[in-house]
Amino acid sequence: MQQTRVVVVGSANMDLVATASALPRPGETVLGDDFVMVPGGKGANQAIAAARAGASAAFLGAIGSDAFGVTLRARINAAGVDTGQLRVVYGTSGVALVMVSADGENAILVTPGANAAFTELTEGELAAVREADVLVAQLEIPVATVTEAVLAARAAGTRVVLNAAPARQVPDELLAAVDMLVVNENEAQAFTGRGRDDPSALLALAPRAVLTLGAEGAWYVERGTEAVYVPAVRVDAVDSTAAGDAFTAALAVAWGEGRDLLAAVRWAAAAGAACVRRLGASVALPQRAEIDELHARSA
Ligand code: ADP
Repeated sequence: MQQTRVVVVGSANMDLVATASALPRPGETVLGDDFVMVPGGKGANQAIAAARAGASAAFLGAIGSDAFGVTLRARINAAGVDTGQLRVVYGTSGVALVMVSADGENAILVTPGANAAFTELTEGELAAVREADVLVAQLEIPVATVTEAVLAARAAGTRVVLNAAPARQVPDELLAAVDMLVVNENEAQAFTGRGRDDPSALLALAPRAVLTLGAEGAWYVERGTEAVYVPAVRVDAVDSTAAGDAFTAALAVAWGEGRDLLAAVRWAAAAGAACVRRLGASVALPQRAEIDELHARSA
């Protein structure tokens, strides 16, 4: 089978993750336990997830001219993602300072760095979008950049999957060009004022949508048909970080491969479940064989 071509336009951050028995209060210094540095940002995560799920994946985004940028490119590329068009912007890379306490509480501070400077797509970037089977975008980079990519995709017949996270104001022309919206309950509330009680409210925004509910599964809605509930695949959950990224990317890959949408949503649920079995974000994103295995077990 020919690999489906997925282009992800979005953010890349270096996640600096420190663990301690308790989080510091303002003004306090706490001695921590462990420290890890891992690539993050929804864009980079979803590009890595798409490659692992079996797509030919390319990432369009911006890294800084600092050491984090060098590491980010190397790590994203080593995960099998084409980073040939990843921009280097003079200045700092996006960074997430993450503190995690022993009881699982966290505090996160994100500085967007180069992500904020990712504006006006180049001809090469637009060509990549036009040539893709599926474009995947989120809202962690300037909305104007997302809109430009989505409109180019729309005009070229590239399918558009928008993971509208984090929730923020978006222009109508952006939503009008989206084929499939993926949101969790917080985001659904922000966009429609409705949650799981009314997943079909999302159809005012896009012709198809998925409302994800963590361990409680997901709703798939499509204009003109009944809403369908897709249960979560049961696993021993360790860390829910990036479940939505694994889900969105797998959905895009399966749809690009020509599966029917409900089948694609079920396969994506297996990807989300596979992701929560391991600690960490990008390092927990599942390979295709793992997704297939969980999917087969749940069928
Ligand atoms: P987000 O990370 O964007 O908030 P969710 O937490 O809703 O996204 O997760 C996306 C999907 O991943 C869910 O709809 C579900 O299919 C799967 N998933 C998430 N958490 C679990 C879990 N604990 N067990 C099984 N599947 C899960």
